[in-house]
Amino acid sequence: MKKALIVGASAAGLSAAIYLKRHAVDFSLIAKDIGGEMILSGEIGNYPGIAATTGFELTKQFRKQAELNQIEVETGINVNEIKSIANGFQVNGQKNNQLVQNEANAILVATGSTPKKLGLPGEKEFYQHGLSYCAVCDGPVFKNKNVAIIGGGNSALEAGLMLTELCPQVYLITINDALQGDVILIRALIKKSNVKIIYRGQTKEFFGENNFLKGLAYLDLNSGQIEKILVDGVFVHIGLNPNSDLVPEIWGIKNNLNEIKIDRLGQTSQPGLFAAGDVTDLPYKQIGVATGQGVIAGLSLINFLNNLDA
Ligand SMILES: Cc1cc2nc3c(=O)[nH]c(=O)nc-3n(C[C@H](O)[C@H](O)[C@H](O)COP(=O)(O)OP(=O)(O)OC[C@H]3O[C@@H](n4cnc5c(N)ncnc54)[C@H](O)[C@@H]3O)c2cc1C
Repeated sequence: MKKALIVGASAAGLSAAIYLKRHAVDFSLIAKDIGGEMILSGEIGNYPGIAATTGFELTKQFRKQAELNQIEVETGINVNEIKSIANGFQVNGQKNNQLVQNEANAILVATGSTPKKLGLPGEKEFYQHGLSYCAVCDGPVFKNKNVAIIGGGNSALEAGLMLTELCPQVYLITINDALQGDVILIRALIKKSNVKIIYRGQTKEFFGENNFLKGLAYLDLNSGQIEKILVDGVFVHIGLNPNSDLVPEIWGIKNNLNEIKIDRLGQTSQPGLFAAGDVTDLPYKQIGVATGQGVIAGLSLINFLNNLDA
């Protein structure tokens, strides 16, 4: 009997599951929760085909479609290991401190990623109350308001380019003495008249009132002084941590960012192991992208199973 397993039940995993179910594949779908980062995505105005929604509502629609297709999702499982065995894989996880073990001929890893946090005072308190980890997603909410971006790599630069089109004043605070991203992005950003780049600024805390962010304090590493900036929004863009620890390093299937490398069909270098969504090395971390990747990887997985000896 050929069997598949999907790990992750959000945009990528649930999209793949629809295809597996409709192709009558025998599979299980396990995850920590339904919705992952998608359910936390706040206002969503860029998911094609749905004019305006929220992460919570969109997740409800994904869940409804799964139910209509009689897809069962087992939640509460934290998968920590995928091992190679004869004819496939063994997948080990924990649920309520109990070992949960699955075996399958093919696996789809759709475990997403987690934005890196600074771990500073006020960061948790003002999350979604002025502090965001995604400018593409939440930037439009801050139209005509002053904002700050923390970070100096490509994701912070892209956030800067987007927010300078929307906001009268954008501060970009980097702890380094130079921007780290692509030259083309750096050149484009420094040309903008409404951006102030603060080099060697170490963010120290976020403050606000009535449950809304009002600004941040940073240490000027040149002068040794603490400086304050008053802004309505802060975007923390210091990178993403892909949830890829379950895949062993020994297979060499991850890049230097710990993302799972895939080809255009969602296959990794390990036959039978597929990946989709934010956990992969595709640079665009968006729900529409994860959904499409889930469909592609799902169809590739079906093809892989069909070609296995019975
Ligand atoms: C604040 C914020 C706002 C955003 N706004 C938008 C937006 O407006 N538009 C947009 O297109 N995108 C937005 N995004 C990006 C979007 O959320 C992601 O691109 C999308 O959710 C990726 O889907 P995914 O299926 O790859 O992963 P996720 O949605 O992160 O889901 C991962 C799944 O894997 C499971 N999982 C993870 N690790 C394990 C494990 N070890 N064991 C078992 N299960 C595991 C989780 O429980 C979950 O089911 C936003 C992101 C953030 C953080």
